[in-house]
Amino acid sequence: MVNSTKERGYAKWLRTLNDLVSSSGEAGTLKVLSPFNNRILGHAPISSDQDVEKAFVSARAAQKSWSARPVEERQAVADRFGKLVLQNRKRLLDLVQAETGKSRSAGFEEVVDLVLWANFVYRKSHVALAEDRVPGALPILTQTHVRRVPWGVVGVITPWNYPLTLPGTDSLPALVAGNSVVLKPDSLTPYSALAIVSLLYEAGVPKDVLQVVVGSGSTVGEMLTDRADYVVFTGSTATGRGIGVKCAERLIEHSAELGGKNPLVVLADANVDAAVNGAVQACFSNTGQLCISIERIYVVENHWDQFVPRFVAATKKLRIGAGYDWRTDVGSLISKNQLEKVSHHVTDAARGGAKVLAGGVARPDLGPFFYEPTVLADVTPEMEVYGEETFGPVVSLYKVPTDEDAIRAANDTTYGLNASVWGGLSAQGRAQQMQAGTVNVNDGYGAAWASYGAPMGGMKHSGVGRRHGLGGISKYTQQQTIAHQHLVPVSGPRWVPHKTWSRVLTVAAKAMRSLP
Ligand code: NAP
Repeated sequence: MVNSTKERGYAKWLRTLNDLVSSSGEAGTLKVLSPFNNRILGHAPISSDQDVEKAFVSARAAQKSWSARPVEERQAVADRFGKLVLQNRKRLLDLVQAETGKSRSAGFEEVVDLVLWANFVYRKSHVALAEDRVPGALPILTQTHVRRVPWGVVGVITPWNYPLTLPGTDSLPALVAGNSVVLKPDSLTPYSALAIVSLLYEAGVPKDVLQVVVGSGSTVGEMLTDRADYVVFTGSTATGRGIGVKCAERLIEHSAELGGKNPLVVLADANVDAAVNGAVQACFSNTGQLCISIERIYVVENHWDQFVPRFVAATKKLRIGAGYDWRTDVGSLISKNQLEKVSHHVTDAARGGAKVLAGGVARPDLGPFFYEPTVLADVTPEMEVYGEETFGPVVSLYKVPTDEDAIRAANDTTYGLNASVWGGLSAQGRAQQMQAGTVNVNDGYGAAWASYGAPMGGMKHSGVGRRHGLGGISKYTQQQTIAHQHLVPVSGPRWVPHKTWSRVLTVAAKAMRSLP
């Protein structure tokens, strides 16, 4: 059972978080509900058009002095922020569970992600943002260096499925790079974002440098895309495409992590038990509402008869329910819309002749939006679940004759976010054939995601740009080349005839080509 006393106990904290929204209060409030029981958690103030405008004006003004501070000072914010997240982890976990209905272990993934990424940003930002000295046009006479200049005001738009992690992990490198940030969290989950923002303030980010605007994507989100100097977006492919068009019209850069229909492949030389355990976790963590979770599994036929019953049995053993303890594996879906989408995909498949091997039913006895972890077989291309992202606890199993067939089928999608390959010696080579931004060998998604030094993002329709790695910090800057010319201009001294100068340059070019 959900502990509603706990939810009530946090009411005062949520009211203080309301004060962090850039809002005059004139645009009203939005009701924030807990998916565990549909009770109201709080009323978050909405930002009016004028509030958004004001947020940008003060963020822009504050950015100048923020970017003038030494990078070490901004890096120290990342260090303090990581410590504060750890110190506050229990109440952050309670809040994110209350706001999303996720299990405690899924919530913990968010907390640990924030801490580890903050640590990477703290330790590596000076490298990612360092000025580069490069060879100049004329040796010794030209001194050239490349600076990293912050964009100005970065607009951060985040979804509801990882509402602690994404506002923090996208805003933090933008801030450390010297930008100010205007953040728009999803309307279903503003409080998790506000809790993270409160810790960023406590860690030393000035209030004007980081502003939160609350309201729908079609109003507040669009205003943000129209005003920011760089946009970082996480959400659906449809919304991401619209934001990409707007950014192109304004000739500004952006990065976007979008949807996926991620495949897992069990190769002929895989260890079946290991693949079963990994697949269950990869399909149903966060109730399948995870951009990198697995929705399609291709099993080479020598393993089919062992894999399917073991996978179905392991899925049926998952503990589903509401609760602020560690006893459940799978929590609620976020909303009625999500429940309807998931139910529709399963009903549509079953109507078309798919077999439901596990789950396939809602669980209103546990809470309004619970749905059982579901395994489908005999799914065909006419069914919506075949190619469309479900973004819920539903996976389709496919038997394939060979490893080649498995890879071909896995790549047969417009998406390319994440992939998982289970196998022995063949797996590394097969991994390189996958068309996905991250490929996990003998793991579902965590190995690539939590390799913070490595880029993470989507190929094909799953995204533009990358997060993580040094590039996940330096993308929040534009490069500026400064070349300082001494004594002789590159075009040659005025007293030297063009022909003579061209001979000098030819000799110099030949000499440079012969350098090792
Ligand atoms: P969504 O509808 O695209 O919403 C995401 C965010 O964009 C929300 O804050 C939303 O605001 C805002 N938004 C909506 N329309 C907008 C517009 N026209 N201009 C600016 N902002 C706008 O996504 P969702 O369906 O809620 O989230 C689930 C999707 O996100 C899935 O497809 C999933 O794969 C993807 N996702 C991807 C990643 C990744 O890293 N690749 C991570 C998480 C989720 P409101 O909701 O407040 O209106």
